Amino acid sequence: MNYDKKSIADIDAQGKTLLVRCDFNVPQDEQGAITNDKRIVESLPTIRNLAERGAKLILCSHLGRPKGKFDMKYSLAPVAKRLSELLGKPCVMASDVVGEDAAAKAAALAPGDVMLLENVRFHAEEEKNDPAFAKKLASLAEIFVNDAFGSAHRAHASTAGVADYLPAVCGFLIQKEIGVMGKALNDPKRPFAAVLGGAKVSDKIGVINNLLEKCDTIIIGGAMAYTFIKALGKPIGASRCEEDKLTYALDMLAKAKEKGVKFLLPEDSLCADKFEADAKAQVFADIPDGLMGLDIGPKTVEKYSAELAGAGTVVWNGPMGVFEFPAFAEGTKAVARAIAASGAVSVIGGGDSAAAVEQLGFADKMTHISTGGGASLEFLEGLELPGIACLLDK
Ligand code: ADP
Ligand code: MG
Repeated sequence: MNYDKKSIADIDAQGKTLLVRCDFNVPQDEQGAITNDKRIVESLPTIRNLAERGAKLILCSHLGRPKGKFDMKYSLAPVAKRLSELLGKPCVMASDVVGEDAAAKAAALAPGDVMLLENVRFHAEEEKNDPAFAKKLASLAEIFVNDAFGSAHRAHASTAGVADYLPAVCGFLIQKEIGVMGKALNDPKRPFAAVLGGAKVSDKIGVINNLLEKCDTIIIGGAMAYTFIKALGKPIGASRCEEDKLTYALDMLAKAKEKGVKFLLPEDSLCADKFEADAKAQVFADIPDGLMGLDIGPKTVEKYSAELAGAGTVVWNGPMGVFEFPAFAEGTKAVARAIAASGAVSVIGGGDSAAAVEQLGFADKMTHISTGGGASLEFLEGLELPGIACLLDK
């Protein structure tokens, strides 16, 4: 897939009406108050840049899962309000998506003005990528700007369909995502190491497969490690294991050998007799019956840290242990520390991995933390993302 896409820097925005797909899918409390506005804040550089250049901005997004009908519980009105505060000028809220109110408010925009459409998922046609709906949405504007990386793996009307009717470019968020991640995957500074952990091998099969073609080293941690360890005939006690993936695990180990990729598995684990925050952590190389591995052990930390110290590029997906429990967060923390200290180009993909790096205080030490959970995984799998494929090539 070609990641060299036109961005808002390549267009003449002055006086033009732009449809900008953002990711405003923010968390809210029971009363609808926004509990974390990070996604809105992250969209500001693109919005400000275009407004300053005299564009008329029609923003759109989805929020939650309203199931194809108008349900004010999922209204984007709170986002428009927060956006107005952050921008220091009004963001006009439309009461519909492709209806009369949206059309009237869009027609009334002056250069530099910003408006927000209602939740695109109020129409079932959005997720079906219905061409008539996409065309209607597109008819509001002259240029499409996609800046919603978190939805770029979906072929929906507002993420890809509209590009059939409008010239399409990316905003700064997607530009950064594909710039850093695309380079890491296609032209990495070597040695290129992938750190893969998290809950399940089955979630990461595509990622392991793709990275085996590109990396010099693969470092495995998290619950996923125990499926590999068991496949090699070693005891894993009551650790999480996917019995139906044992053969796959052996195939991956064989493929790594054949390709000359170094494949590292934990040599010891921090174990517990229950899956609870207050469980006592005990170190074992061979995990006894009744105990489960909840984090990589100290010897493994040392080995992985040494390996990462020499890396040129590191792609990391999946925590090394149950980082949500402080007693089992050390492995993830140590790996984050080693990546930060290595000076390697570092890319973090995956929702829980991004959360772990932020929670443990290493966010500003990484080159790039992807904003898209599922989208970043599909990116690491080497899949074509419809919301990016639809953009104009440079
Ligand atoms: P991402 O969202 O970054 O792709 P995953 O969803 O695959 O990551 O994995 C994250 C989860 O894996 C975390 O909630 C973490 O607690 C869990 N996890 C990591 N190691 C273990 C382990 N040894 N046993 C059970 N769960 C684990
Ligand atoms: Mg996850």
